[in-house]
Amino acid sequence: MKKIISVVGARPNFIKIAPIHRSFQKYNEDISHMICHTGQHFDAKMSKIFFDELQMPKPHFYLGIGGGSHAVQTARIMIEFEKILLNEKPDLVMVPGDVNSTLAASLVAAKLHIPVAHVEAGLRSFDRRMPEEVNRVLTDEISDYLFVTEKSGSANLKNEGIDSSKVYFTGNVMIDSLVNFLPIINNSTITDKLLLDQGKFVLATFHRPSNVDEEENLSQLIDTINEISTERKVVFPIHPRTRNNIDKFGLSGKLGKNVIILDPIGYIDFLSLTKKAELVVTDSGGIQEETTFLGIQCITVRDSTERPITSEIGTNHMIGTDFQKVVVAAKLILGGRIKNGRIPELWDGKASERIVEIVYKSICK
Ligand code: UDP
Repeated sequence: MKKIISVVGARPNFIKIAPIHRSFQKYNEDISHMICHTGQHFDAKMSKIFFDELQMPKPHFYLGIGGGSHAVQTARIMIEFEKILLNEKPDLVMVPGDVNSTLAASLVAAKLHIPVAHVEAGLRSFDRRMPEEVNRVLTDEISDYLFVTEKSGSANLKNEGIDSSKVYFTGNVMIDSLVNFLPIINNSTITDKLLLDQGKFVLATFHRPSNVDEEENLSQLIDTINEISTERKVVFPIHPRTRNNIDKFGLSGKLGKNVIILDPIGYIDFLSLTKKAELVVTDSGGIQEETTFLGIQCITVRDSTERPITSEIGTNHMIGTDFQKVVVAAKLILGGRIKNGRIPELWDGKASERIVEIVYKSICK
């Protein structure tokens, strides 16, 4: 029996590993797939609700790392994860995405000569000020299997000199979760609860340090949301990082009355809101992909995207971080100037099946 440990730490990781765990069940006579939760995201609304809604088992290992600076978090994960690897001696470690848990776990595994598989490899924003970009580049460099979601990923890895025999274009596991849970998402009653009309509201999410860590920026961002809310109701589920900063800078009274302020919401209700929104305004990575898959207009308030396919053929409008331009773009889109998108290649709900089959054939045969 082969043993694989997948390492998750933050909200987007849970969504990416859920379909992989499900796909591994087909091979459960040959492979035992275990999940290690580092505890990078720990509060119930950022963690437990995803395990429940995405029908994942309780993690086999929980490291309880919690918050802290990048160095503290990365170091603590490494120390604790090394103990797990020394005890368990898995045949492979799987890491999704680009968070500190991704890099910390792959570093530990690589140094113990345990092969590493990176799910969502090759994405590049080419902005090294983003902590995620550093995590992506370094994780890819030490990975043995690199599973890519869009073709730009393969090209980026080639340019960095990574041997193409390790790179597999398998599609997007984030979309696997979406496809799998669509029937449940369609039954969500969140829009009724919030008294929203389908196709007549804007959904906003923000958590990137470049938008929410400085008082001036965050204050302007709130002005931007308020401005958009003069046209449509805005639903704003607030990420804990953003909430802390709003409180720290005393900005909580500033959000307008047409803005529905929520705590982070669970996966099913969030995707229901995304699917029914007229426009999503965000700085998230994953939401650029989900809106493209669902054909929903998305404004990305960032200067770069590591997911260029969403803007090239999808419904993503890369507007940059000039908030005036964001308001102008939002008004144009709400006025009907929309982008017709297509669904990218291999975003078909079967990426995790392809990934798991490659892993099975490689380690079990
Ligand atoms: N999400 C959610 N509830 C929320 C906000 C986001 O369920 O209130 C989901 C959504 O599917 C999104 C994913 O969490 O794609 C990851 O979100 P986040 O923006 O935190 O991470 P990123 O993709 O930017 O790393």
